[in-house]
Amino acid sequence: MVAYQDLSYWLSTVDEPLTPRPPLAGDTVADVVIVGAGYTGLWTAYYLAEAEPALRIVVLERQVAGFGASGRNGGWCSALLPTSLTALARRHGRDAAIAMQHAMHDTVREVGRVVAAEGIDCHWSYGGTVVLARSAPQVQRARAAVAEARQFGFGPEDLDLLGPAEAVARCGATGVRAATYTPHCAAVHPARLVRGLARAVERRGVTIHERTPVTEIRPRAAVTPAGTVRAPVVIRATEGYTPALTGHRRALAPVYSLMIATEPLPDETWAEIGLAERETFSDHRHVIIYGQRTVDGRLAFGGRGAPYHFGSRVRSDYDREPRVFAALRRTLGDLFPTLGPDVPVTHTWGGPLGVARDWAASVGYHRADGLGWAGGYVGDGVGTSNLAGRTLADLIRNEPTALTRLPWVNHRSPRWEPEPLRWLAVNAGLRLMHSADERESRTGRASRRAATFSRLLGH
Ligand SMILES: Cc1cc2nc3c(=O)[nH]c(=O)nc-3n(C[C@H](O)[C@H](O)[C@H](O)COP(=O)(O)OP(=O)(O)OC[C@H]3O[C@@H](n4cnc5c(N)ncnc54)[C@H](O)[C@@H]3O)c2cc1C
Repeated sequence: MVAYQDLSYWLSTVDEPLTPRPPLAGDTVADVVIVGAGYTGLWTAYYLAEAEPALRIVVLERQVAGFGASGRNGGWCSALLPTSLTALARRHGRDAAIAMQHAMHDTVREVGRVVAAEGIDCHWSYGGTVVLARSAPQVQRARAAVAEARQFGFGPEDLDLLGPAEAVARCGATGVRAATYTPHCAAVHPARLVRGLARAVERRGVTIHERTPVTEIRPRAAVTPAGTVRAPVVIRATEGYTPALTGHRRALAPVYSLMIATEPLPDETWAEIGLAERETFSDHRHVIIYGQRTVDGRLAFGGRGAPYHFGSRVRSDYDREPRVFAALRRTLGDLFPTLGPDVPVTHTWGGPLGVARDWAASVGYHRADGLGWAGGYVGDGVGTSNLAGRTLADLIRNEPTALTRLPWVNHRSPRWEPEPLRWLAVNAGLRLMHSADERESRTGRASRRAATFSRLLGH
């Protein structure tokens, strides 16, 4: 039996026991069956049940609600998308890119609305995000991000460039030369959000079966060892775990993100670090780092950089990479010397997120066979999964809306290359970004190879 509370600091601090709900006990029928009880599956169930209370909705979850990335992430409910506005405009046109960004801004507000309406105690704090620039190349990237926002009509109220004093007033890290700040982000306790959402859908009559692995998704059926759920609509909401499903091996690559959390820090330390509005924070390096100040005064801090595993394998021991935890701890000390080596890290964890070959998140539904999906959010699924859930509810109900016209709807990403090419390409990309960061911090000069690679990925 998995000790679910050990999977992340967040799952160890939820407001209920993680006792699994009853598994599926045999064949059954429903109107909609959803595979995966993370944010994507549960938001889809939530909006469907709200729109049509009579629908029989069944959610099948291999472990427990929030077992996946939804119970382990950095808790940035942001308006970020894995693809830049420029890349979106190149693919779908300028107006579509702008509409998508506006929809994401609305999404952060919408999650906040539901959290309040449903009484989900997930430590919601709408403090925005500050992304620091601590070297000349990072300042260039901060300026470029703001210039891009302006080109698409987004002003300082959406993304502002801060000078060093303003930036440090928000986040007192070392070597800060500038920062970008957006108000469009809330810090959340991610596991309380997903668990609260599970209870909210149950109040609306949705059935969740936990410890129920789905071995195959096919038109009008989700197959499990205990029985088959037959339904005209079947939704795949399995994100980083998708490659294990028959026929989906190359749909998404599971890439690991890892986190650490300190013990609760004293007020004097917080006076130096700042984050008074619980702004989420990062910097403009290539290999993403992210952090938040928790309600109990810890610093929860994460980053990418763990290796991709051959064959898109996902295993619990991949959540723990001592080398990456040590690197995160060093980075934290470099950002905030007040967190010298003596400040204990009390929790370490990680999990897989889903990356599509073209780095584009997507949501879709095929009426002819009743199959739908959403995912490929990379590291931006906390907010985006809500937009996906609302969109899937409209698509399934055949309601054309502004959401169903957004450019990511029914976007089909190409499949990943077969192995060993996939393993070589993903890990080479990770290594390139790492060495670019190291070189930039050593020489203060931007890495042209990393910039080209980023462009190739459509960032
Ligand atoms: C460490 C980390 C930090 C992150 N930080 C952030 C952040 O700060 N902000 C942000 O926006 N995003 C972040 N992300 C990404 C974000 O957490 C995800 O994009 C989001 O949680 C995806 O939700 P989901 O419901 O699609 O997938 P998941 O939460 O992974 O849920 C999928 C569920 O499906 C279940 N499942 C899989 N296969 C089967 C099967 N065959 N049968 C039955 N059930 C199955 C799994 O057990 C799981 O519960 C982070 C991710 C990680 C790992």
